[in-house]
Amino acid sequence: MSREELATLLEAEGGPRYHGDQVFRWLYARRRFDPELFTDLPKPLRTKLAQSARVDVPKITARVTADDGTVKYGLALPGGGTVETVFMTHRDRITLCASSQVGCALMCGFCLTARMGLIRHLTAGEIVGQIARIQEDQGLRDRPFNIVFMGMGEPLHNYDGVLAAVRLLVDPAGFALAKRRITISTSGLAPAIERLASEPIRPRLAVSLNATTDELRDRIMPVNRKYPIARLLAACRRFAKATGERFTFEYVLLAGVNDTDADVLRLAKLLRANPAKLNLIPFNEVPGWLPYRAPARERVVAIRDQLLAMGLPVSIRYSRGATARAACGQLAVISDGPGPSLPPPLEVSL
Ligand code: SAH
Repeated sequence: MSREELATLLEAEGGPRYHGDQVFRWLYARRRFDPELFTDLPKPLRTKLAQSARVDVPKITARVTADDGTVKYGLALPGGGTVETVFMTHRDRITLCASSQVGCALMCGFCLTARMGLIRHLTAGEIVGQIARIQEDQGLRDRPFNIVFMGMGEPLHNYDGVLAAVRLLVDPAGFALAKRRITISTSGLAPAIERLASEPIRPRLAVSLNATTDELRDRIMPVNRKYPIARLLAACRRFAKATGERFTFEYVLLAGVNDTDADVLRLAKLLRANPAKLNLIPFNEVPGWLPYRAPARERVVAIRDQLLAMGLPVSIRYSRGATARAACGQLAVISDGPGPSLPPPLEVSL
């Protein structure tokens, strides 16, 4: 619930509206979920709230640690279904990779989440509950961290849920995260990118480009048939112009598919025409499930160096968590389906 929704709830319980702000603080800043603990509210109101209201936070059902220390969580949602959320540290930087949907509707051929289909959107409460649960489990308290909506789902498909969650996360009386610490990654829903540009509270934008021709992008990312590259780039340019912010292109490198010399030249051209930096992501393999391979490491480095030599802002983003199947594109909760069972499964049940 937002501040306004809480104020209305508290009013309905017979208190003044400002009690809504107090409850807001308990929930989102102190992250206490039992109304009996809300000691700055009158005792009778607390008791009444405890009877009439419930704070549901996702429950941890599984926890797997990869060899690089990345932790993948399975979280059972109050509204049903399970998502995976990933906790990563790099030096002293902490990043949570959050899910916005159970499954995904976008059908990208290189992403395991697509194999689930879309089950449903997460509510704003489930999204911030996901964050709060992991914050608590990792003992982060008030340590700052980054959130990337790069877990399960297409965040801009669940536009209202994700933006409501972002507003809760940046509210100074709540989680108080800086908005530059939150990034939404999209497969390229052009109209939603344009809508995002006009939001007063707006996370950073990353766009999964992944191909330099419509012919290939149509094939590996069916969303391209609806919003082809030119349409997508027009939306990105509008976003950059309206916000004055630079965005990021992501480019998953698939061996022999989108990593040729011709691709590199087309990428360079695209980058010159757009105020974006580029993250190259070597493909994370899921053998038996995803029909692609990662290029050799030397090829990945050569592509980066070639683009750098042309003066373009490029870096390689090596994914973390692969040994826990926690890397980009590897998140999925699939009990049975085609192919071999998924390696390695969430083997720790709590
Ligand atoms: N739906 C959103 C966010 C989730 S995916 C999006 O498409 O952007 C986050 C990033 O991981 C995207 O850039 C996506 O292209 C990339 N990705 C998907 N599958 C991958 C895989 N198997 N290996 C590496 N990156 C992958």
